[in-house]
Amino acid sequence: MRIPQHIIDQIFETARIEEVIGQFVNLKKSGSNYKGLSPFSSEKTPSFMVSPAKGIFKDFSSGKGGNVVSFLMEHESYSYPEALRWLGKYYNIEIPERELTPEEKAKLDERDSLFIANAFAEKFFTDQLESEEGRAIGLSYFLERGYRDDVIKKFQLGYSPDKSDALIKAADEGGHNLEFFEKLGLVKEKENGDRFDFFRGRVMFPIHNLTGRVLGFGGRTLKKSKKTAKYFNSPESPIYHKSDVLYGIYQSRNSIRNKDLCYLVEGYTDVISMHQSGIENVVASSGTALTPGQIRLIKRFTPNITILFDGDPAGIRASFRGIDLILEEGMNVKVVPFPEGEDPDSYSKRVSSDELVAYLEEHAQDFISYKSNTVLAETKNDPIKKAGLIREVLESIALVPNQISRSVYIQQTSQQFEIAEQTLISELNKILRNNQKKDRREQGYTDADTLDLIVPETKTPEKQPAPGIDLDYQEFDLIRLMLLYGSFGVEVEIESEDGSGTEKIEIPVVQFILEELEESDISLSNERAKLILNEFQIAARDGIIPNLKHFVNHENQEISSCAVNLSADRHYLSENWTKMHNIYPETEEMKLQRAVEEAVWIYKLRRVRLMKAELGVRLKNKLSPDEEAQVMSTIIKYNEIISVISDKLNIVVAK
Ligand code: ATP
Ligand code: MN
Repeated sequence: MRIPQHIIDQIFETARIEEVIGQFVNLKKSGSNYKGLSPFSSEKTPSFMVSPAKGIFKDFSSGKGGNVVSFLMEHESYSYPEALRWLGKYYNIEIPERELTPEEKAKLDERDSLFIANAFAEKFFTDQLESEEGRAIGLSYFLERGYRDDVIKKFQLGYSPDKSDALIKAADEGGHNLEFFEKLGLVKEKENGDRFDFFRGRVMFPIHNLTGRVLGFGGRTLKKSKKTAKYFNSPESPIYHKSDVLYGIYQSRNSIRNKDLCYLVEGYTDVISMHQSGIENVVASSGTALTPGQIRLIKRFTPNITILFDGDPAGIRASFRGIDLILEEGMNVKVVPFPEGEDPDSYSKRVSSDELVAYLEEHAQDFISYKSNTVLAETKNDPIKKAGLIREVLESIALVPNQISRSVYIQQTSQQFEIAEQTLISELNKILRNNQKKDRREQGYTDADTLDLIVPETKTPEKQPAPGIDLDYQEFDLIRLMLLYGSFGVEVEIESEDGSGTEKIEIPVVQFILEELEESDISLSNERAKLILNEFQIAARDGIIPNLKHFVNHENQEISSCAVNLSADRHYLSENWTKMHNIYPETEEMKLQRAVEEAVWIYKLRRVRLMKAELGVRLKNKLSPDEEAQVMSTIIKYNEIISVISDKLNIVVAK
């Protein structure tokens, strides 16, 4: 469903970045820019800048930056088309949909209808809290649990009347098709064809996706009888895939991102109680065992997970499984056990918010100490059991995909158990080899192939970095000047038409740089710099100099992010400060002529020296006389360039 380019252009032309970001961040004008507190980290002094002129934002605390679309992608976790659609809606720009095939359309229509049915049910259940029955039973239960009004609203808690057709009737009256309610498990059918409400006499916990739409419900019974399950949950449906959903992600995602940490708890009530205590970076896997899909959902916001759980044996087993799954996704995991028989919900009710925060901070253990503490308590220094435990820790470490992280964990294990790192490493390598063999056998390989060790067993001396000069910085500096001052003029000296001498004319910065590079036959080596330079070259053939926004809003993400990074400058931040102190720094703009010349010449000088050095290496090999002559003449040409540039730069070079 590709959005046509002219619509994308229209969206970018219309969208005002400061207005859009202003929907999510409190921005204050600061010179020609805006600034505010970073929405991607918690900070007290604003380091988040928006430049309307450049069409970019830059967050100096997290390093993130981009255009108006990348902001929405980053902040709202939208895909590229989703972000464009959001803007289209905001600015009333109609985005035509591709004609869908009948099957696609039916599927989309069904999803939409299911979401509409769930939204209707959610509203129905929350409204019930105001009915007589709902107030007496549902609301009073929540209040008894100590839930505040604002928290009840935030989580859209509700109540399902203790009747067999309350929802059915309301849906019917609202003109809804009950077929969709059945697909969602909200309505069931008896063998005789009679329909009845699935949730009856229960308090209702709607489960939302990232954008706040309702996927399903959990319902807790209020009856004391043991005959009915305490919790009922919506079944899987075309819109509810339990293994990819986390309870509370909608309400918690911003806090998870800002705190750069996600607490993982068991159920609805744990999430809600913690929010009420002011801890808002928390989600629950609710009703299912933790899955890789759920962990990856958290990974979109932070690489750090802390599991909170009941310290009974079942809770400990579950935490061990959770640890391994999280490590396997390459994320960092910590654990906070609660006293036996206590969960975050019950605990947070007994203590104050501050005490809860302190408890979480004091009891968070990394998985190695946690595993060893729990198991060591049982083994009481029995050496055989201790060896088994170490093996178990190593097996968890073997799941970590990144080698450096594995080495760090090995160091820590070595300290914890007072065992030499080398011993642990060779043990770990055995496990890794076995795992690899297992994987490969499953893929149909034989054991004959030799396998690389994942952690080197003995330290090898560091390899010297390859000789050569890194020119990335210089290349990006050229690109930066083209992006920021592309159509500004610089003076060049040319021979005058009448041949009487030289005269000075002004040409655009872009033209100056392109001609200088072409003249000495230099192409950039950095791939991203090359991408941008290419665009300038192609446009130049039509006499066009694309402006910064062209690159910042480019559909190629690499071009766009490169343009943002190069044009975002630390100096924004000090703009006010300098004005306040009456300091007017000489800006780059003021000394553009010199800046551009130096950037070009220094780059050329280094580049040509490098090319010359490479030719020098070639000369050491056996070459045909023709080849040798060619290499020699090129070296002479390079020498000339070097001396011309050196003159310009007023440097004396030894040839
Ligand atoms: P109680 O008041 O008896 O403590 P509770 O409502 O707090 O009951 P618990 O039995 O303590 O429920 O369970 C703790 C958490 O586990 C709850 O937040 C609940 O969301 C979740 N949970 C328990 N059973 C289920 C289930 N079958 N499906 C989904 N979540 C469940
Ligand atoms: Mn409970």
